[in-house]
Amino acid sequence: MTDLPFVATASVGEKMYELVTQLYPICRSITGEGVRQTLRILQAHIPLHIHEVPTDTPVFDWTVPKEWNIRQAWIKDPEGKICVDFQNHSLHVLNYSLPVHQTLPLAELKTHLFTLPDKPDWIPYRTSYYNENWGFCLTHNQLLSLKEGNYEVYIDASLKAGNLTYGEYFLPGETTETVLISCHICHPSLANDNLSGISLAVQLAQWLAQKPRRYSYRFLFIPGTIGSITWLSLHETEAFQTVHGLVATLVGDNGPFTYKKSRRGDATIDCAAAHALKHSGFPYTIINFFPYGYDERQYCSPGFNLPVGCLMRTPHGQYPEYHTSADNLALIKPENLTQSYQVYQTILEILEGNQQYINQNPKCEPQLGKRGLYRAISGDNHTRSYEMAMLWILNFSDGSHTLLDIAERAGLPFAVIHQVALLLETHGLLAK
Ligand SMILES: [Zn+2]
Repeated sequence: MTDLPFVATASVGEKMYELVTQLYPICRSITGEGVRQTLRILQAHIPLHIHEVPTDTPVFDWTVPKEWNIRQAWIKDPEGKICVDFQNHSLHVLNYSLPVHQTLPLAELKTHLFTLPDKPDWIPYRTSYYNENWGFCLTHNQLLSLKEGNYEVYIDASLKAGNLTYGEYFLPGETTETVLISCHICHPSLANDNLSGISLAVQLAQWLAQKPRRYSYRFLFIPGTIGSITWLSLHETEAFQTVHGLVATLVGDNGPFTYKKSRRGDATIDCAAAHALKHSGFPYTIINFFPYGYDERQYCSPGFNLPVGCLMRTPHGQYPEYHTSADNLALIKPENLTQSYQVYQTILEILEGNQQYINQNPKCEPQLGKRGLYRAISGDNHTRSYEMAMLWILNFSDGSHTLLDIAERAGLPFAVIHQVALLLETHGLLAK
């Protein structure tokens, strides 16, 4: 037996980082070819299904928007030289910009330009999904360098009836009770916010695909907000099969972990995440649910109230690079991705192994020595932990405590409790 529940190799983080690097240049949005291209790249790793939902499909109080696609965009200065070019960075265009081709004076152009005056070297990420507009995002220093005169602007984009595209990978288990892993895929060249979560979900899916599963697993790769609303609206029955869920995002920066509880606050996923973090050795905070953030907002809307939390590192809006060109490949690190993967893996192992057992010898302690159970697990430094675990499990396996409850009460890692419970079961001292 190993003392560490799961040891992910360093190469896991490298693989995740590599996928992020491959996806980084693509201009994604809530619809369009960037999303399809992203999902096709993921199909090389996991056999996910790509679903298309037509524009104007009613989804609860919303409708699926028009599909946006962009080919090129630039601004030419008064000398006819390109000074802002979408080819150089996907953030240079206001996401969902209408097509435009016109020449206009600087003062008028400025009403369509977005910058960050207090971070003059970074390009902001701006969207205009539900207000038809056009615009460019650039560094504030670029803006300051623009001279008076007439500028030619060109955005070769289209906004017309099409589809909303999302990816789904379903892994059946022994039961139809499902664990949901959801991530958003709608941000253009932003590494931590969206790509790190996508890469983590892919890695987890690959791991789960090759192991026995008690639960079924559903991986959703969806545009933020409208994607989860669309999926929930079209799959209510499947949605209510969700017994545990996590929204995966912001897992590549080096900040402490942040677990945002489900709206229920006391769901098994909340306990499993808290337990995994407590024994991870990594710094972390746990925060209560609030109705802002990522797709947990929809999964935890009162009509669903699914047990879905969100596990991230530094929360959205709380790191300076958030929604700027500085959320790039230098912000995230393979070792941070590895750590995040380990914590997610530990949580899923807890969910898989968390059972309720009944002590088959409840009247006084069974004699462990005659069964060879004292010093049964030797050769490591944790013999005492394992022996204490036996006593805790036998005492609390009374039909009203799960293994996770017992691990919490004993102050021992779930993996130890789980291993020992399996041993006691093979000796006939425990039964499910
Ligand atoms: Zn975002």
